[in-house]
Amino acid sequence: MPRIYLDHNATTPLVPVALERFTAVAASTWGNASSVHHFGQQAKAVLDDARAAVAGLIGAEPSELIFTAGGTESDNAAIRGAAEALEASGRRHLVASSIEHEAVLQTVKALARRGWDVTLLPVGQRGVVEPDALAAALTDRTAVVSVMHANNEIGTLQPIAELAALARSRGALFHTDAVQTAGKLPVDVQALGVDLLSLSAHKFGGPKGTGALWVRRGVRLAAFVTGGRQERNRRAGTENVPAISGMGAAAQYARQAATEAAPRIAALRDRLEQGVLAGVPDTAVNGDPAARVPNTTNLSFDRVESESLLIALDLEGIAVSSGSACSSGTLEPSHVLKAMGYPHPRTLNSIRFSLGGSTTEAEIDHVLAVLPRLVTKLRSLAAR
Ligand code: PLP
Repeated sequence: MPRIYLDHNATTPLVPVALERFTAVAASTWGNASSVHHFGQQAKAVLDDARAAVAGLIGAEPSELIFTAGGTESDNAAIRGAAEALEASGRRHLVASSIEHEAVLQTVKALARRGWDVTLLPVGQRGVVEPDALAAALTDRTAVVSVMHANNEIGTLQPIAELAALARSRGALFHTDAVQTAGKLPVDVQALGVDLLSLSAHKFGGPKGTGALWVRRGVRLAAFVTGGRQERNRRAGTENVPAISGMGAAAQYARQAATEAAPRIAALRDRLEQGVLAGVPDTAVNGDPAARVPNTTNLSFDRVESESLLIALDLEGIAVSSGSACSSGTLEPSHVLKAMGYPHPRTLNSIRFSLGGSTTEAEIDHVLAVLPRLVTKLRSLAAR
């Protein structure tokens, strides 16, 4: 059975240039980048190249980038590192949006258990944080504000430049998780006006377990992994040179893809979305239909449990995902759709389709051909 992969927000296949670079470096450049001799310097040169390539993806200086073990670690490092560095100043308040990825939400909740005040910002029905909500939450004690650039479930873009300017006007640092925008849209740290920005390689064609945190020059950040002096004393441990080189190659590729492939992917996404809305009754788009990344649509199917539809699609060879998750036998609603104020059933019946560079029109048409039958069948079973 041919398989159709529409879950690129979960992870992407390695792009060929990243795979080639990864394997070539793993085979030949095995030195420790901290060693002074030839082998070490070879590895160091590979790291430098990758740092320049990743910096190029986000309009940053290479010296401002710290390589990490992925998006989750970058989010932890940004929030914990900045919070610890600011603790002595008396700033003990953190702000995040209520639709952040768990990497941010669980981090601020962990700090709340250690005495930090935490405010979770509401979002409206479109899934967007209103600048007024942030303005109302900010105090002179706010240390860090974290709002994601695009949401992983619904793809909605946040008004980061406006939010960051507000936070910084009150002396707080601003972090954005750009894991879901890098490689899909041009990302520029200066235009966004943020202080800290998280990236994850496997979301734009690079290897898993590799990411980066951009730290604006002058921002104080406590070391988040202590030990040796790697990554400017912030993240100790011998660097994963092959994976980082793969991230560099993917970044170079993604920089072009973000502008060149985006219109084609957006057109396919719209074809899928319009096809579902027209061909399957009682369906709706979740989140802002305009302000979103080009590859994502999140659709709700009335009277269908998302997990059942996900499995039915998988049996047809189509891979998608749902925001709700089955835990201990009951379906947990998506925290994102819940925060958007959707009624309970709608938080349980939504499917995320996330397209990628390899998605074709024939694949989208195949999905549109099988979906109505699956939904009708699941609805008739549920009605019994
Ligand atoms: N942040 C967002 C918005 C994500 O979508 C993800 C992955 O799903 C992460 C962070 C975590 O990244 P990683 O898988 O590299 O730890």
